[in-house]
Amino acid sequence: MPKNIKKYIFVVGGVMSGVGKGVAAASIGKILQSRGFEVTAIKIDPYVNVDAGTMNPTEHGEVFVLDDGMECDQDMGNYERFLDRDLTRDNYMTTGSIYQAVINRERNLGYGGKCVEVVPHIPLEVLSRIEKAAEKNKADITIIEIGGTVGEYQNILFLEAIRMLKIKKPDDVLLVLVSYLPLQNNQSELKTKPTQYAVRTLNSAGLQPDIILARATAFLDKKRKEKIAFNCNLPEENVISAPDVESIYEIPLNFEKDNLSAVLLEKLKLKFKKQDLRNWRRFVSGIRRAKKPIKIGIVGKYFGTGEFVLADSYVSVIEAVKHAAYHSNRKPVIQWLNAETYEVKPHKIKELGEFDGIIVPGGFGGRGVEGKIAVINYCRRNKIPFLGLCYGMQLAVVEFSRNVAGLKKAHTTEVNPETPYPVIDILPEQKQKLAKKDYGGSMRLGVYPASLKKGTIAYAAYKEYLISEKHRHRYEVNPDYVKRLEKKGIIFSGFSPDRQLMEIMELPVKNHPFFVASQFHPEFKSRPLKPHPLFREFIKTALN
Ligand code: GLN
Repeated sequence: MPKNIKKYIFVVGGVMSGVGKGVAAASIGKILQSRGFEVTAIKIDPYVNVDAGTMNPTEHGEVFVLDDGMECDQDMGNYERFLDRDLTRDNYMTTGSIYQAVINRERNLGYGGKCVEVVPHIPLEVLSRIEKAAEKNKADITIIEIGGTVGEYQNILFLEAIRMLKIKKPDDVLLVLVSYLPLQNNQSELKTKPTQYAVRTLNSAGLQPDIILARATAFLDKKRKEKIAFNCNLPEENVISAPDVESIYEIPLNFEKDNLSAVLLEKLKLKFKKQDLRNWRRFVSGIRRAKKPIKIGIVGKYFGTGEFVLADSYVSVIEAVKHAAYHSNRKPVIQWLNAETYEVKPHKIKELGEFDGIIVPGGFGGRGVEGKIAVINYCRRNKIPFLGLCYGMQLAVVEFSRNVAGLKKAHTTEVNPETPYPVIDILPEQKQKLAKKDYGGSMRLGVYPASLKKGTIAYAAYKEYLISEKHRHRYEVNPDYVKRLEKKGIIFSGFSPDRQLMEIMELPVKNHPFFVASQFHPEFKSRPLKPHPLFREFIKTALN
């Protein structure tokens, strides 16, 4: 590879949101990576929120966490999973973070007395961050996804940034429009007109897409491609089909059916190698072959948006289950279980018996907590494979304290600050931040090391003494109770190297086939070709 390539591919959305722009961007990254380039990806969110940490999951979906503690959009998780790269805070920005930086610089006289204006100073800040991220990631090609849909007020300044960079580096910048072709019930023809309008909107911002990814129920026929090409001013081979898929991991392969990587690299004037997507192809054919189901229940509460179920709140958990299930040649069947159901209809808890395994994922606040504790109790007593994630571990400790260790009203102080047995409690330094109402970034965030205890399920899964995992929480197992709980049979198989913070709890295998929970979020580290050890072992046990 020639040294010092710096190319930029911007991905914007047209027509409507929610058509999979993030996985499209990640898939573009994957196919370019498969041609031997170092690729990184950046997400720009048009929110005024400085990061995603303060956003409610039912509003915005999962908050993904990077190694360095950045709380960001779930698309960052897609990039990490598809590219198999750990990204950093340089790879994420929001409108809020950009304005904050510009305003701080102005306050520090960083603009030397000049009038600071929305244009060009905001787009310039955006561009300087993009270039910094490209540099830091040593990327030949940087994919930049702009949140929202073209035509919204919110992302105009980002379009302006693309325009400015394109003037400066005409050969190094490409624009990809991910559009949508609707299909009406009484017609059999995919409609291209909304895409034409989206392109016109881009044109009025001084931009012309180089590639159009046509999201639709099916592959485009020649007629549709011709129509889009003619009306949107681009060659037919730059119109790429992006049909609905059963698994998102098929998308890079679908793009290659229309030669997307070659089209992109030729347009960027880059010489490229023969593609190597062998492992990816093998993984995807494994998905297609996995027919035998494995049934996993996920007990949560962030599902409801009106009549719809928002699985987005737990996307990394879902993907981690999938990676592990495919690894065991099983088709994952995931069912959402609303924790609150078990509070109002306790008899319903018996339905848990239908599942091969149960996951209690992360969460905040009191709603649904007693339901989750009831679920954990049922899994423990009925030997149903159980995996607890963050809040799931904290509540497993509460359940054990109450029902095994005899600490009747044990609780987390997050829910009951007056509990006589605060087995889960907040750390003193977090307390200070909360007292100041400093909620943004006030959690234990990002990767921390943990030591593992030999002879445990955790050690057998990782086969390592020292691991590093991602965190996002304020509360911890109260160190004052650790000895007492251990005496009653809990095994803390993972802990911070100074032994102050408990990272993994489990029950002895002689009592339960798989009862494991972690204070960290293993789901954030699972990758398609490298399922996370805890998920992998959970699924393996659930198979039996
Ligand atoms: N609410 C708990 C805490 O803040 C758990 C957080 C989580 O599950 N991510 O510690």
